[in-house]
Amino acid sequence: MRVSVAGTGYVGLVTAVCLAEKGNIVTCVDIDREKINLLNSGVSPIYEPQLEELMWKNKNMILYQNDYIEAYRDADLIIIAVGTPEKNDGSANLQYLFEVAKQIANTVVKDCVVAIKSTVPVGTNDKVERIIKENLKYDVKIEVVSNPEFLAQGTAVRDTLSATRIVLGVESENAEQVMKEVYREFNIPYVITDRKSAEMIKYASNDFLALKVSYINEIANLCEIVGANIEDVSKGMGMDPRIGNQFLNAGIGYGGSCFPKDTKALHWLANYNDYELKTIKATIEINENQKIKLIKKARKYFNSLNGLNVAVLGLTFKPGTDDLREAPSLTNIPLLLEGGAKVNVWDPVGMENIKKIFLDEISYSSSIEEAITNADICFIFTEWPEIKDFDIEKYAKLMKRPLIIDGRNCYSVTDATNSGIIYDSIGRKTIAEELLKI
Ligand code: NAD
Repeated sequence: MRVSVAGTGYVGLVTAVCLAEKGNIVTCVDIDREKINLLNSGVSPIYEPQLEELMWKNKNMILYQNDYIEAYRDADLIIIAVGTPEKNDGSANLQYLFEVAKQIANTVVKDCVVAIKSTVPVGTNDKVERIIKENLKYDVKIEVVSNPEFLAQGTAVRDTLSATRIVLGVESENAEQVMKEVYREFNIPYVITDRKSAEMIKYASNDFLALKVSYINEIANLCEIVGANIEDVSKGMGMDPRIGNQFLNAGIGYGGSCFPKDTKALHWLANYNDYELKTIKATIEINENQKIKLIKKARKYFNSLNGLNVAVLGLTFKPGTDDLREAPSLTNIPLLLEGGAKVNVWDPVGMENIKKIFLDEISYSSSIEEAITNADICFIFTEWPEIKDFDIEKYAKLMKRPLIIDGRNCYSVTDATNSGIIYDSIGRKTIAEELLKI
């Protein structure tokens, strides 16, 4: 089967490489010339564990190109994995998707199936089918299938090769068979449904996880007020299989390219249909507040941030990725700068991307030691293993004032306190709080 993939981002590239790993010949198309050049030189444009190894292993099975005409014209299956970012009103921006739909309509010379992997609002697959039909250049039959993606950045390859389910929203037996053929070697259970339900499965799943995160963050905030310990609370809750222990780590909120936009897009869709999704509205509001929780905490210790040396550890929206989209660091660094702080940052893989945003407004360190040396305060935004494994005693030795405000609960409160550090985290007691006003 000839498979082409539109978009070589986190979803498209990982999908293409995993399809190749399972024996399919795949052509990847992207409008970004730099990405295609990198891919053709064997380099992955994104940081994703195992991805580059699999690219090399399957290099004879994958083509990377900018030319969509050659890639789509006689493909049996075209998978669309372009971005669907957020518009100002919270709805999904479908311009890239519709652009690919028109390109397909103008190009394809034989019957084929188009699978939409991008996350799209309910009804979009129908719209794409209409766009293709209205613009078809040749007398061919094109069927559209909804095939939403559930991978998580940082574990994308593993998530794709061992997915929990493959959701197929199909409107014909033929489309279902084509999709089953391409996924034949994956041995993963299918959920076969209609296109609208498949589209909804994706949003409902992501929004449920976001809701779980906001829920545990609210409970953590209450724990701080009443003196309970969120880690014990999460553990006790998560052992109940009806609840499950994933997405129960309290912190400074979710970020990334999916949860923020997918919560807003579903909320928008409900509003558009005169319905209010109260749970999702609350999820979004809680997350916005949670993102700036550490700055609010800092006010307990300093009347003003002006002139303070601030170390920031962890910049990406979560460990295991170089993606900064909607990361709490992007909300907080500007607030620190506005307050007059001097900001020095470190991240194991996010440095190149952050430099493009903050240029010479902040300083960049090549190690945790360098970032915290002489700092008045250290904020932790991402729970990278390198940060969790860092010798906590070094904070006391290297910082001007050993004050850590940790948004990801990387250390034990007891260890930090025993090392002479003033340590404030999420949903846990801060020992020696009364000693603090500096
Ligand atoms: P991305 O921004 O990393 O990649 C999108 C790619 O599409 C870019 O490289 C862009 O240049 C390319 N593109 C744009 N227009 C094109 C065109 N006409 N032809 C070919 N390529 C084109 O996006 P992503 O993170 O991979 O997400 C893609 C979709 O998958 C989104 O709808 C997202 O919501 C969804 N999704 C993302 C994840 C995730 O973890 N990132 C997980 C599940 C689903």
